[in-house]
Amino acid sequence: MIRAKDPNIKTSVFAVMTKAAQKYNAINLSQGFPDFEISKDLISLVNKYMLTGYNQYAPMPGILPLREKLSQKIEKLYKRKYNPETEITITSGATQALHSVISTIVNDGDEVIIFEPAYDSYAPVVRLNGGRPVFVRLNYPDFETDWEKVNKMINSKTKLIIINSPQNPSGKIFSDEDISNLKKVVAGTKIFILSDEVYEHIIFDNKQHNSIAKYPELAERSILVFSFGKVYNATGWKLGYFVAPEKITEEIRKIHQFTVFSSNTPIQYAVSEYLDKEEEYLKLSGFFQDKRDFFNEMLKEIGFEIVPAQGTYFQTVSFSGLTDETDMQLAMRLTEKFGVAAIPMSSFYHNEENTKTLRFCFAKKDDVLKQAADKLDDFYTKAKKQLNLF
Ligand code: PMP
Ligand code: GLN
Repeated sequence: MIRAKDPNIKTSVFAVMTKAAQKYNAINLSQGFPDFEISKDLISLVNKYMLTGYNQYAPMPGILPLREKLSQKIEKLYKRKYNPETEITITSGATQALHSVISTIVNDGDEVIIFEPAYDSYAPVVRLNGGRPVFVRLNYPDFETDWEKVNKMINSKTKLIIINSPQNPSGKIFSDEDISNLKKVVAGTKIFILSDEVYEHIIFDNKQHNSIAKYPELAERSILVFSFGKVYNATGWKLGYFVAPEKITEEIRKIHQFTVFSSNTPIQYAVSEYLDKEEEYLKLSGFFQDKRDFFNEMLKEIGFEIVPAQGTYFQTVSFSGLTDETDMQLAMRLTEKFGVAAIPMSSFYHNEENTKTLRFCFAKKDDVLKQAADKLDDFYTKAKKQLNLF
């Protein structure tokens, strides 16, 4: 009889909801991925490198030209120099980077602080490595971090704090105050920080991304994780990277090499060349802010109360007062009966608490967002009627 190392791990909600969306032919605003074409120039570059013979294994940490470009990019944006030889490592997506980082740092009995709602891959990997996730709930509905609470959770077993700004699923970003609180929490400890910054270029309302790289006293104990899937709207390419001080990188690479050894060669060359076009990633915030506003305006007109996301391409919407269902039941009914799929926010809480909120991905063509809004309007009107509120 085969028994998974952690039999409690369930199929990821992203797989579940996308499958349901396909089954019922619903508009899929659940799993986060864009539905529009990616840059043709970038595709041509991948083609070029494939046709000119870049089809064998890349070096274990990734091709050096790409690591050099990333080093320059980070230095320009966040004013910290990461050595391309020893401090930058290319991975098969951010997911693999997260897995390799957590597997390196977390040992039996170690505690890891995770802010909830949280991206779904952190806690299972902590547990697989014998660690104990310690969940700190973000306030609702503003998703502010309660640093008093964090302080109370810290003890001699705390090995790692995982942060994610802009945050999936809440769309919340870390403010200057959050950064100074984080500094206070880790000062004088040996706690590592894993900073998931995959949405670094999707941040709204003229806010700046507070990369951990900007703060020397944090960066020296931190591993930062990024994804080209987000930067180039190509989630299916599964290419990412992590950066960390040399001593930490050295250890993580020991795990990375036996997880994938190295990542897709022609895509690394293509991305390396394409990184010269800064505007390709600097335009993302404006592009997605327009989508957020377009989607939110329609939802507001229907009657939903919205707290706009500060970053990412996700918007949380409350269904409180419209139904007695759990958010999972509602997500399924919306998919099956109304033709629009979303992620129940309970999936991002370890106790699956019913928050009566859903997460919608607005990285979609405007006409698709409009069709989805029409379906949500239909749902809203029927729900209100049923409650005799109209
Ligand atoms: N972290 C966060 C917060 C994410 O939303 C995602 C999903 N895209 C990932 C990591 C994983 O990224 P990738 O697709 O590059 O594995
Ligand atoms: N990051 C994407 C999301 O939050 C999905 C990633 C995945 O499917 N594992 O929807």
